[in-house]
Amino acid sequence: MNGKKALVTGSSRGIGRAIALGLAQDGYEVLVHYAGNEEKAREVKAMIEEAGGKARLIQGDLSDLSAAPRVMAEAGEIDVLVLNASVQIKKPWQEITLPDCAQQMHCNFVSSLLMIQAAVPAMQKKGWGRIITIGSVQEKKPHPDMLVYSASKAAQTNMVESLSLQLAKYGITVNNVAPGVIYTDRNVEALSDEAYAQKVKDSIPVGFYGEPEDCVGMVRLLCSDAGRYITGQSLYVDGGKSVQ
Ligand code: NAP
Repeated sequence: MNGKKALVTGSSRGIGRAIALGLAQDGYEVLVHYAGNEEKAREVKAMIEEAGGKARLIQGDLSDLSAAPRVMAEAGEIDVLVLNASVQIKKPWQEITLPDCAQQMHCNFVSSLLMIQAAVPAMQKKGWGRIITIGSVQEKKPHPDMLVYSASKAAQTNMVESLSLQLAKYGITVNNVAPGVIYTDRNVEALSDEAYAQKVKDSIPVGFYGEPEDCVGMVRLLCSDAGRYITGQSLYVDGGKSVQ
């Protein structure tokens, strides 16, 4: 163990799960956060413990704004905050409702701000901290039917830039890691349509989807001493899709 504690939101499944396992390998005690899927979260905790690590579960639906302060109170002082959980609602822009906006903006942006506000004082005290938001290639290439989702991610990255400047003097780095198409539960159904899947692959320069593990190296780098000089950046892990 390295004596440090990391909270990874949405780490019961997908990219968050892979990040939680990666940080556990680096010796972090990991707080495995989930919204409703306790069984999957328990699996991640068990995998970490079986490998000799330390993990704890925290539940909270981050589209409900009362959840973020409670999750942070339960977490206690943390050294690394990875804001990975998100809500993604796909529908044509004319049909977007106020509840659709609230759910996505609350989870993907407002809760991120509230959690950073809660985490920073302990990081400042220690003179060391790592804050990583998980964005999306859609910040550059918005999908027409995910307008609020892509806007919420762009807002989150703008916040990263602002906070990186304000927190640099405390030894806290703040960065965004923006995945491209990663094969996880949220897009299994869409990618089961062969014609659509081929169209998606054709839009990725490397020619294949990423796996959740493809996003982990960047997060581990940012959390390590080798990453101490990287702040205020949005780093794409997308097989080249953002520059296509
Ligand atoms: P995923 O497999 O769908 O898993 C979502 C995770 O977030 C789960 O742990 C889930 O918890 C949690 N979650 C869902 N709704 C939540 C809510 N309202 N409050 C709190 N937690 C919630 O997701 P993923 O594909 O790994 O995506 C992870 C991150 O990468 C997201 O920020 C996503 O926007 C971003 N991203 C993904 C892709 C991609 O292609 N997959 C591309 C670009 C960006 P439960 O298990 O309890 O439901």
